Amino acid sequence: MVVPQPETGSILFDCRWQEAPATSGPHMQRLLHWREELYKLDLVGMDERGIGFGNLSCRVEGHEPFFISGTGTGCKKRLSPTDFTQVTAWNYEGNWLECRGPCRASSESLSHAAVYEGRPQARAVIHVHHPVMWQALYMRIPTTHPQAEAGKPEMAWAIGHLLDQGCEDGVFVMGGHQDGLMAFGVDLEEAGQRLVDCFHRLMD
Ligand SMILES: [Zn+2]
Repeated sequence: MVVPQPETGSILFDCRWQEAPATSGPHMQRLLHWREELYKLDLVGMDERGIGFGNLSCRVEGHEPFFISGTGTGCKKRLSPTDFTQVTAWNYEGNWLECRGPCRASSESLSHAAVYEGRPQARAVIHVHHPVMWQALYMRIPTTHPQAEAGKPEMAWAIGHLLDQGCEDGVFVMGGHQDGLMAFGVDLEEAGQRLVDCFHRLMD
């Protein structure tokens, strides 16, 4: 498997943020609900260095492209609508994105974007960290190329490549992102349940 290697070197991630009020509505209720479920299982949370991990996103009719939890929100026990922002544009090669909302989006939003581009029917994407699941599922389920690292454009290419190959179950391992897994679905229920089922199969 060859992952295209654009000559991007290591361009620093650039979040072009425009401050705007929080949004509300059914999408926010579902985001908050699933964020709580994932936090309970430690799939989203804070690592031993005190850095938050995990993020979730969904697409909303009339508000494309997608809403996502903000950078650094993993460490918070409870999120509120001000912890979500709307990603409106991006560029993998340039390693930038544009977002509008009360907070900034993380570089991992580009991985969410890659899933939405590779699977137009996906309406929700969840990214979690879990060492046990990662090790147990690495290369046993679809896994992105180990040389494609998180926070680099190569990860987006690797996700696109993986989706081209299949990924029927809607869950995959991020091979070059220690502990990282992603799930997607037609809505947050489907994406979330896929991860929760995976978690219980391995951990119960
Ligand atoms: Zn991550």
